[in-house]
Amino acid sequence: MEKSKEMKVSLGTLVDNFLEVHPGLSQRQAQEEAHRCLYCYDAPCIQACPTGIDIPAFIKKIASGNIKGSAMTIMRSNPVGASCARVCPTEELCEGACVLNHSTNPIMIGDLQRYATDWAIQNKQVLFQAEQKKGKTVAVVGGGPAGLSAARELALLGYQVTIFEAEEQAGGLNTYGIVSFRLPPAISLWEVDQVKSLGVEIRTNTRVGQDISSAEITENYDIVILAIGMANVPMLGVEGEELEGVYDALELIKATKTDQITSDLVGKRVVVIGAGNTAIDGATCAVRLGAENVKILYRRTQAEMTAYHFEYEFAKQDGVEFRWLTAPKRIIGDEQGKVTRIECIRMELGEASSDGRRQPIPVEGSEYILPVDAVIKAIGQLRYIELIEAFGLEHRGGVVQVNQTTFQTSKPKIFACGDVIFGKGRGEAMVVSAAQQGKETAYAIHQLEQGGDLDG
Ligand SMILES: Cc1cc2nc3c(=O)[nH]c(=O)nc-3n(C[C@H](O)[C@H](O)[C@H](O)COP(=O)(O)OP(=O)(O)OC[C@H]3O[C@@H](n4cnc5c(N)ncnc54)[C@H](O)[C@@H]3O)c2cc1C
Ligand code: SF4
Repeated sequence: MEKSKEMKVSLGTLVDNFLEVHPGLSQRQAQEEAHRCLYCYDAPCIQACPTGIDIPAFIKKIASGNIKGSAMTIMRSNPVGASCARVCPTEELCEGACVLNHSTNPIMIGDLQRYATDWAIQNKQVLFQAEQKKGKTVAVVGGGPAGLSAARELALLGYQVTIFEAEEQAGGLNTYGIVSFRLPPAISLWEVDQVKSLGVEIRTNTRVGQDISSAEITENYDIVILAIGMANVPMLGVEGEELEGVYDALELIKATKTDQITSDLVGKRVVVIGAGNTAIDGATCAVRLGAENVKILYRRTQAEMTAYHFEYEFAKQDGVEFRWLTAPKRIIGDEQGKVTRIECIRMELGEASSDGRRQPIPVEGSEYILPVDAVIKAIGQLRYIELIEAFGLEHRGGVVQVNQTTFQTSKPKIFACGDVIFGKGRGEAMVVSAAQQGKETAYAIHQLEQGGDLDG
């Protein structure tokens, strides 16, 4: 009895650890910040935003107290603009281009974007009206940022759109993958509702290739958009991966976003393998799940890590340690099959390969053992090759090949956008770029359709 009470208290604390970290701007702060904007003519921040939000316009609307108008300006250009306000690497995008960088601090564009969209969420606003549906039928496979964005634009253009989504909720990684203390699921679900309110049907719990075949989809719809993103974390390919205490970072994060927070990592020594978005989110999740010590092991150096600078700083503030030029060699367990240690090997960087990145090479004889209780795998994401091939699409290692302008695949009536076309040196896996590609795919479809190029 006493024990379960104790556990409940500690679980409650863990749950609180997953509340959003950044409080957002108060009304006074937002007003002051909005009044700092110079409302530049030909503003460089607009060019730097992949979705081309008219940033000076939305900021001016905040300054004049028209917050709904501001939210509409943002969401018109970016159907996932509330999520982007929280997760965009703004210092590399809009804020990085702000002219005030030369004299003082840039305008806090992300925070102002969040202020306006939070207002719309809190005031349960439905921002756009549905067009009468008269156009062709479109099946969007995958309801993440790319799929939602394409669906929203096509719905506004009058197409009859159905999204097929494998999970219980749409929103993709915004709903299930980016940690809730940076992006609470409610924000993404509001964006999903905005798309639904335009008459887009979202069939959740429907995995294409399993619950409905790719052939049925292509037969029953005039146009298909593949926006399935990427899959789970791949195997490390080292001994001991099957041991208890080895986690897939994406599954761990998803559990924390779906009310399945456990005390399994409390007091544990954790290592995270990898140094991209997923590794940082996995590591900061482990800290909030009560781990005593969290180390990120990365086989290259800080210069090559793919995580954004703000994510790196965030992890350091959380007390996450980084061990550069270190790779796992094997995971060691006890008689019960639980992780107890990890054998690591030091690396050095060799020549750059075709992707321009210097290749890590193991330093012979440099192996050493770290005592650990849990290992989180976060070395990127696999591809849904089977489904891509079921649709009969050309791909390179699971990266669907598309026409760069029209997003048309090797099958003329099938288009693809978002993470499913990212990779092999092409594009950036970002929420904002997925959203923009979704928009561009929709416009290309409409143009081809109007020219009669999708008939037959
Ligand atoms: C842990 C993590 C943290 C990240 N942090 C950031 C960040 O801070 N900032 C940033 O800009 N980007 C970040 N990213 C990248 C960003 O989340 C992605 O680039 C973006 O979500 C891609 O959008 P998408 O719609 O292409 O794919 P996804 O978001 O992956 O959506 C794909 C959707 O398709 C569905 N699906 C898959 N297969 C099927 C099927 N067979 N049938 C039906 N539905 C299917 C999935 O369930 C999912 O809902 C992060 C990524 C990860 C993994
Ligand atoms: S969507 Fe991202 S890049 Fe564009 S203005 Fe907003 S925060 Fe900046």
